[in-house]
Amino acid sequence: MKSIQRCPWPTDELYRAYHDTEWGVPLHDDRRLFEFIVLEGAQAGLSWHIILKKRAAYRKAFARFDPEKVARFGRVKIGQLCADAGIVRNRLKIESAVSNARAFLKTQEEFGSFDAYIWRFVDGRPRINRWRSMSEVPARTKVSDAMSKDLMARGFRFVGSTICYAHMQATGMVNDHLVRCFRHGELGGARGGTAPSRCKDRVFERILAHPPFFTHVRSGHLHKN
Ligand SMILES: [Zn+2]
Repeated sequence: MKSIQRCPWPTDELYRAYHDTEWGVPLHDDRRLFEFIVLEGAQAGLSWHIILKKRAAYRKAFARFDPEKVARFGRVKIGQLCADAGIVRNRLKIESAVSNARAFLKTQEEFGSFDAYIWRFVDGRPRINRWRSMSEVPARTKVSDAMSKDLMARGFRFVGSTICYAHMQATGMVNDHLVRCFRHGELGGARGGTAPSRCKDRVFERILAHPPFFTHVRSGHLHKN
């Protein structure tokens, strides 16, 4: 019997669904990109699995990831969130989600969309890697270093280079599925070279039709899991 080949890190149903439908899919929707920034900031120091389990609570706590609403969160609202057991109760992380929403809106204004801004770091096209084992997958690259520096200059917090690289993996700016994983080929790896910036295959359209989800696994955590 031939079983489906996957990356080694999805160890339960939650992770498998995430790996199979979200992680590495080129993402161009600003609301979902903002969702990523909030969740990623919350993750710092924790496992991505914990954050995935809290995702529904995050969506509720952070106005369905509407950056305009989150940017207006004041002291009272932040105090309430600090008492919300559904999310990571860390004041610094919660405050940074609000200041990141403000930086996000400014960036949107400057570039027309956050999508247009962030994809410039890879010239609008996913980079298709060909890793054979997890040990080859980097935790950061020169591109993520540059992205981190630029985001910080724009006032974003919790955007270190490894977080930025995790963002690139999750949102399909790089295809870091191992070559033997079935998703590597589905997300452009089968064609070799570089995939179109907006993957038009059926899988991608199906995913776009889903409720807003977004992705991401940090390679650092993957090694540990
Ligand atoms: Zn994979």
